[in-house]
Amino acid sequence: MMRGKSRFLHRVSEKSPVKKEPFRTCLACRAKKAKQGLYRMVAVNGEVVFDEKQQLPGRGAYCCKTKTCLKRLFKNEKKIVKAFRCKKLIVSAFDSPL
Ligand SMILES: [Zn+2]
Repeated sequence: MMRGKSRFLHRVSEKSPVKKEPFRTCLACRAKKAKQGLYRMVAVNGEVVFDEKQQLPGRGAYCCKTKTCLKRLFKNEKKIVKAFRCKKLIVSAFDSPL
């Protein structure tokens, strides 16, 4: 019984990557959270956009879904630029969903 159960659990964890999902770090407060609790941002043609569906290709950066963290990030554009390793980044196009 025990043996059978543990084997089943092992199989499930192998098939579902949910539990193994790596946490992302918020750029503003550096808290580590699961993707669902964070906004994903992607640089598209030198512009930072919010990737609401978290499906856009490319290097992404993350920020907590809180006004505090978003405001903190807006104030510190250098952090964003650094995160995307871009020389020029249009952060003014940063359209906050909040
Ligand atoms: Zn944060």
